[in-house]
Amino acid sequence: MNPPTDPRYASHGPVTVDGVALDQGAVCNASALVPQAGLAGLFAALGLQLAGLRRVYLLGPTLGPGPLWMLGRAERLRPGALSHYPDLRTAAQLAAVSGVAPDQTLAPEAPGHGAASALVAAGMAVDRALFLAGLPGVALPTTPMEAPSRGLAGPLRLFLVGAGSAGTAFLVGLLAARWQLEIGELTVHLVDHDAVEPRNLNRCMVWDQGHLGSLKVHAVASTLATIAVGSGLRLTVGAERFDPEAASAFAPDVVVSAVDNYRARAEINAWATRNGKPLIEFGCSPFTARAEVCVPWRSACLRERLRVDELAQDEAREASGGCGRRADGAVVGSNMVAAGLGLWGLFALLRGDPPRGALLYDLLQGTRGVARPKAVCLCWEKG
Ligand SMILES: [Zn+2]
Repeated sequence: MNPPTDPRYASHGPVTVDGVALDQGAVCNASALVPQAGLAGLFAALGLQLAGLRRVYLLGPTLGPGPLWMLGRAERLRPGALSHYPDLRTAAQLAAVSGVAPDQTLAPEAPGHGAASALVAAGMAVDRALFLAGLPGVALPTTPMEAPSRGLAGPLRLFLVGAGSAGTAFLVGLLAARWQLEIGELTVHLVDHDAVEPRNLNRCMVWDQGHLGSLKVHAVASTLATIAVGSGLRLTVGAERFDPEAASAFAPDVVVSAVDNYRARAEINAWATRNGKPLIEFGCSPFTARAEVCVPWRSACLRERLRVDELAQDEAREASGGCGRRADGAVVGSNMVAAGLGLWGLFALLRGDPPRGALLYDLLQGTRGVARPKAVCLCWEKG
């Protein structure tokens, strides 16, 4: 896809406010009314805050500890930017404040959707708000996918590669799901060698200006240390690129790839096939998101799905800019969708019914679904 040729993209361009790209964590004067106070609405509200909206009004009853936890997180991110109103009778009053007409709002969705569907729905809503509905004053319909099944058994050991916005959204989504899914003790080892830069600020939930210059894994660990209390999460971090020896020493049940380059994807895939470990991989462009669930001896690995080995070689020859180099505000939304699809894949894997084809989302086509699967490959045996 070549985004600049799309007329909707051309008419908006990269989202800027007063000449400052949203990439820099700018705040704009637009406000949004999110008529859904479940997990999907809260993730959407967080995404809109990250995208730079001045005020986000959340409307609807708050139910369950997941949304409560997310509300607390939102307040820590930007105090006062998110207001929650449980009483639907205040809709007209809110509409006057936010500039959104009451007839543009929708009734809240039924509660009970999982964190994966919430992240997907929220990312779609943020995408829609930023690029299709336009600013300012947007009301967001949200469209959760079907709820994932409950009752997943723990404990679970994850080796998570990539502490960028998609990787941390995945981790936050996993924590938000812990009240709904019976994951027992959750042990995560998170690795990333990058530091937090200004261009990262508008798309990651767990860091702010105070983390600039810090290693991403340290920013994630310090934030989660204050909000994951009582969650059963054991988080260790490594300030390094993917290291096969470190992965083997950790002995994960599942390896999760949330990286933005093919070299790392190829290395992670080689380790997973050699060691016979399930691999969840996800990524995005400004307008699309995708997740893969590779199961040893049951489905194709990333060599067949994404040609990771060839693309890693191409990448080495030419300077490549992944989504991490893009200034687009849309990455806020598609990152959330990618993380949600990855989480979706993890839950499907844990309940023994992983999708064999890629999970796909395309903002411009307005589509989402599962791609036709590739045949199972022999890489699992050869390593
Ligand atoms: Zn293969």
